[in-house]
Amino acid sequence: MSLPTYEEADARAREGSPFSNGTEDYAWMGNWCGRCIHDAPTRRDEWDKGCPLILIAYLGKTPAEWLESDPLSLADRYTCLMFRPEDDPGPDEPTPVPDPAGQLTLCPREPYERPARMYADTRLIPERLP
Ligand code: SF4
Repeated sequence: MSLPTYEEADARAREGSPFSNGTEDYAWMGNWCGRCIHDAPTRRDEWDKGCPLILIAYLGKTPAEWLESDPLSLADRYTCLMFRPEDDPGPDEPTPVPDPAGQLTLCPREPYERPARMYADTRLIPERLP
């Protein structure tokens, strides 16, 4: 699942700022966005390629992709469904998954595909390989 555009994320975001103050903001974003592949361009000063979910939060809404996780933890208050560590090579399958070659398509797939990916680390973990 790819990162939503700003417009898509804004349309489904909840009203209300996700953080009460700058300390909460810095603690959470430092733990999540600070090591996420989606905001890596801003760490290289490419400000126009930053994560749209952060912009949503800065403009006073809470992205739907941020699930309440641990309200007592500054660093883990939310779980971001779109988080990917910078060293994550990504899923093996391309997204969206292409239709099989030579097959007819009876109906469009997009309305039936999940709006957000499950939170899963896609890196290979040698101990879990068959
Ligand atoms: S995808 Fe989530 S964790 Fe990654 S930069 Fe955007 S808001 Fe932060």
